[in-house]
Amino acid sequence: MADGKWTSLSFTLNTGDKIPAVGLGTWQSKPGEVRDAVAAALRAGYRHIDTAAAYGNEREVGLGIKDSGVPREEIWITTKLDNPDHKQALESLDASLNKLGIEYIDLYLMHWPCSSDPADPELHTAYADWDFIDTWREMEKLPKSKAKNIGVSNFDITQLNRLLRTAKSVPAVNQVELHPNNPTPNLTKFCQDKGIHCTAYSILGSTNSPLVKDQTLAGIGEKHGRPIQQVLLAWGLHHGYSVIPKSVNENRIKANFAVNDLILHDEDLKALDSLPDRFKVCDDEWLPHKIFLDREDKK
Ligand code: NDP
Repeated sequence: MADGKWTSLSFTLNTGDKIPAVGLGTWQSKPGEVRDAVAAALRAGYRHIDTAAAYGNEREVGLGIKDSGVPREEIWITTKLDNPDHKQALESLDASLNKLGIEYIDLYLMHWPCSSDPADPELHTAYADWDFIDTWREMEKLPKSKAKNIGVSNFDITQLNRLLRTAKSVPAVNQVELHPNNPTPNLTKFCQDKGIHCTAYSILGSTNSPLVKDQTLAGIGEKHGRPIQQVLLAWGLHHGYSVIPKSVNENRIKANFAVNDLILHDEDLKALDSLPDRFKVCDDEWLPHKIFLDREDKK
């Protein structure tokens, strides 16, 4: 699908539901600013909002949704189960719904394939008697009336293979870091083969993105007369990923949505797919154990 009508495009998940291709990210969007950002995005035409219990902003995201005046049923809302809550998926889902002020979530993701035992105030210890397989089993039991789709995030092939061995349902989505400096082609191919849609996070390279200095990217932006952020979004969309750029600035929120009609040439995609530099926004040093295991895919 490359007619460039990105902002009206959606991807069909393995459940049959359709996730809008372009959404608004809200990690690091502070409670004081995210309400206006969400309302501005929805008024600009976005119909997909990504948040998480761990972001501490679900209440304000919910208020922004209400402020926008856009009917709930027209919006795709994703939130995520936090690591200390792996043993209480239903209670945590209810808490998220309560904060967001909504009756159901469109997509509920296991944020990381790693729990944190809340008994350790530093959250440096995973539950000894609990595995993400157990968390997934609990997520599979969540009522569809409250979580229409369930999925995972930050899963490498190693964890997906382990999950799929016992899963009753294949995750609808794997939300992972994807940009031309972290393309992980083995992982995205694996997901495609298994019918798992990939949502690309940090596709702009996140805060203080090193991608802004990339000359190949700059050249492609110049050729198309578009900002490099749109080129990065179009790169993800051409690959079949939904994209969730974060911004709390109304002009940049609108500028990102103006990716519509940007069709990259094969040579552009080839050049972006061959960028030599590598960096990752999210590491796993802060987690109780390492989760990014498929290092050969990061080359
Ligand atoms: P992004 O790659 O979306 O980049 C966000 C940064 O780019 C911010 O500093 C933003 O600043 C800036 N920016 C946005 N648009 C423009 C523009 N047009 N021109 C210049 N600068 C711009 O980073 P994130 O890491 O936030 O990733 C996106 C979303 O993905 C998150 O917000 C979150 O929802 C999700 N995510 C999920 C993770 C997971 O573990 N599942 C991990 C990380 C992210 P400003 O706001 O000032 O515009």
